[in-house]
Amino acid sequence: MKNLIPSHIKSLIPYKSARKISNNGKIFLNANELPFDINFKLDCLKLNRYPDFQPKKLINNYSLYSKVESSNIIVTRGIDESIELLIKTFCESKKDKVLFFPPTYDMYKVSSSILNINSISINSLSNFQLNYFKIIKKLKDVKLIFICHPNNPTGNIINIDFILKLLNSISLNTLIIIDEAYIDFCEQYSTVKYLKQYSNLVVLRTLSKAFGLAGIRCGFLLANIKIIKFLYKVIAPYPIATPVSKIAEILLNNENIQLMKRNVSQLILNKKWLLNKLKKFSYIQKVFNSDVNFILFKSNLSEELFSFFIKNGVILRDQSDKIFLKNCLRVTVGTIKECKIINNLLIDFENSKIFK
Ligand SMILES: *Cc1c(COP(=O)(O)O)cnc(C)c1O
Repeated sequence: MKNLIPSHIKSLIPYKSARKISNNGKIFLNANELPFDINFKLDCLKLNRYPDFQPKKLINNYSLYSKVESSNIIVTRGIDESIELLIKTFCESKKDKVLFFPPTYDMYKVSSSILNINSISINSLSNFQLNYFKIIKKLKDVKLIFICHPNNPTGNIINIDFILKLLNSISLNTLIIIDEAYIDFCEQYSTVKYLKQYSNLVVLRTLSKAFGLAGIRCGFLLANIKIIKFLYKVIAPYPIATPVSKIAEILLNNENIQLMKRNVSQLILNKKWLLNKLKKFSYIQKVFNSDVNFILFKSNLSEELFSFFIKNGVILRDQSDKIFLKNCLRVTVGTIKECKIINNLLIDFENSKIFK
């Protein structure tokens, strides 16, 4: 079978999904999911027919929430499908390039590699903002620029003035794609308000994080109608299963949006509590600021600490393999009970080391 596999798949480094990494934990704080159960009632569904190509009511509800017109919205199987759809639609193999800024979300690279599209990366600055002068020099053949805002795994927003400056200086033949997976935790920084002004701006949203629906795989791509038109040509014929769109539709009604906002407020309080605790340990050298529902921190004992947490049934995410993030771990902010468990384990770890 030596000749069965194309070389770009042979050399592919696949995405390490959180569920692949560890199944035997009790408390999962490695995928930035909401820690609360979301309750809803689903009436009997007719499933003998194919679903709508793009479910109208769902799009209408997301339009009301995002204040973006329905005609500028596509529903996809999570942001991950949107990323792939954009590359499939706008990039030609061996010619066009995708640009992104490590340390960041891995799927921009993984999807480009799978589709055999060249990608280039420009490392962020040490404060995790982006390097404007380097970027504008490297835009030859770049069709898609992915900006993760707020960024995963660092947890910071990207300066809006930078994003606008870049939008003002690039050609309309390059799209700027803002991945706003975590924007519901800091909605004042959303870039959707610039969609009308910039026809080459694309914003990606999801129900997987603040809305607590990672299990249904539902995301939204917001863009100018001229872009949407071409994405329609490429997207799968029935991308969203009927139960998925029904559940999403319910969770996007007024009452449930208020619930999401209360959950977000609670998690922001939990985050503040956990941030302050993390800063108290002498073996944690740095705790990064966070605009989202996870915290990145650095410890010279990160490897040992990571294993210690696993041994106690708590799964964090090791970010050590990423540029600038040696010895860094990422913890999702969970319930206050889970935050207290983290704090207690950090104390146990400290005591086992007897630094004092
Ligand atoms: C979790 C995450 C995604 C994935 O979103 P889905 O809608 O679940 O596919 C995309 N981008 C970033 C930055 C994420 O952290």
